[in-house]
This record gives sequence, structure tokens and C-alpha cells, in this order.
Amino acid sequence: MTTAYLEDDEIQRIASAVADELENRGAAMAALDQRVKEQAERIAELEDKLSAAEAWGHNEVQRANTTADHVIAEYDQRIVVLEALVTELRCGDLHRYFDRELLEDRRAAFDLHLASCGSCQHELAGLMQETVAASGASATKNATATRRTRKR
Ligand SMILES: [Zn+2]
Repeated sequence: MTTAYLEDDEIQRIASAVADELENRGAAMAALDQRVKEQAERIAELEDKLSAAEAWGHNEVQRANTTADHVIAEYDQRIVVLEALVTELRCGDLHRYFDRELLEDRRAAFDLHLASCGSCQHELAGLMQETVAASGASATKNATATRRTRKR
């Protein structure tokens, strides 16, 4: 049975190889640490950009909403004006409606208008009363004429 003893220079060589290896690993760890640090910085940078983009997007959405509100308000205004114009035009049909001179479509449109136009309803009621009064007057006249005829 033989025991192998390492020579001093062999021990020296192994110790130096171990030291080299430790140094390499230390350097690799430091490089890794550096990369982790760089990535963390990059993440922080991207997070800043993201929150800036979110703030910008939020502002843009608000601006778009405000613009949309203005456009809608403008259209509402125009609709009011157009409705007033349509009402005015329809009111102008009242007498022809009463005299049954309107064509079918226009008559139907006036029927719709009449349902919501107080002034046309009022005026139409007046025209009807006038007609009733007029026919009543002529009926009375006729009756008088008849009576006169009978007297003869
Ligand atoms: Zn009217």
C-alpha cells in the first residue's frame, strides 16, 4: 500500500488554479450584478415612459371628449334651428290642410305636426268654429227662407 504525497509545487499549482477559478467566478458574478442593475434601470426608464404615455393618453381622451361634447352641442343647436324651421314650414300648411288641398304625404306630415303644435291646434279649432258658425248662419238663413216660402 502506497500513499501518494503531493509535492509542494503541485500544491502551489492547485492553490493557484483554485484562486484563478474563484477570481473568474467573482468576475462573472460582478458582470451579472451589473447586468441586473442595468435591467432594473431600463425597467425604471420604461415605467417612466409608460406613465408619461398614460398621462398623455388620458389628456388626449379628455380633449377628445371635450371636442365631442362641443360638436354634439353644436349639432343639438342646429337640430333646434332646423326643427324650428320645419315647424314654421308645417304651420304654413294649416289652411291648405283645413281646405283638404294637401297631398297625402304632406297631409300625413301635417297630422304629425298638428299633434305637437299648440298654435296650429288653436288656429284649426278657430277655423272649425268659424265654419260651424258660417254653416249655422246659412242654415238659419235657409230656414228663414223656407219659412218665408211657406208664408207665401
Ligand atoms: Zn304649427
